[in-house]
Amino acid sequence: MHACVFCRVRGGSARASVVHQDDLVLAFMDLMPINPGHVLVVPRMHATGLGEVPDQVGARMWSLGRRLGGALRASPVRCEGVNLFLADGAAAFQTVFHAHLHVIPRFTGDSFPLQGPRAQAPRRELEEGAAQLRELLAHVH
Ligand SMILES: [Zn+2]
Repeated sequence: MHACVFCRVRGGSARASVVHQDDLVLAFMDLMPINPGHVLVVPRMHATGLGEVPDQVGARMWSLGRRLGGALRASPVRCEGVNLFLADGAAAFQTVFHAHLHVIPRFTGDSFPLQGPRAQAPRRELEEGAAQLRELLAHVH
C-alpha cells in the first residue's frame, strides 16, 4: 500500500468524496474543511511539491480550481469569495506531501483570517528582489 494518502485516494484504497477526475487531476472534498464546500485539487501523479508538478498538470489544477470556484458560488454553501491556496513545503503549512490546491469558499467573518502584519517595503529592496528573481527564473523550469 502506498504511504501517500492522496495516492491512496487516487487508487481507491482511501475513501474520498470525489467531485471530479480526469486523466491528469482529481478533486475531492477536504476531510477537515476550513469552511463547508472546501475542495482539494490534486495531480493524479505523485508530486511532492510545486516544483515537481509539470506545467500541463498545474494548468489543469488551476483550470479546475477556477471552475470549482464558480461551482461553489452557484452552490448552496455560503460562498461570498474563494481562496485558491497551495502550500509548498512545511514552512508554508503543507501537511500532506502530495501537491494539492485548496479551493476554499469564503465569507465575511469566517475563521480563516489569512492575515498578518504587512508593511510597504523600501523600493530598493523590491528592485533587488526583482533583479535576483529575474536571474534565477531563467534557471528554473
Ligand atoms: Zn501521492
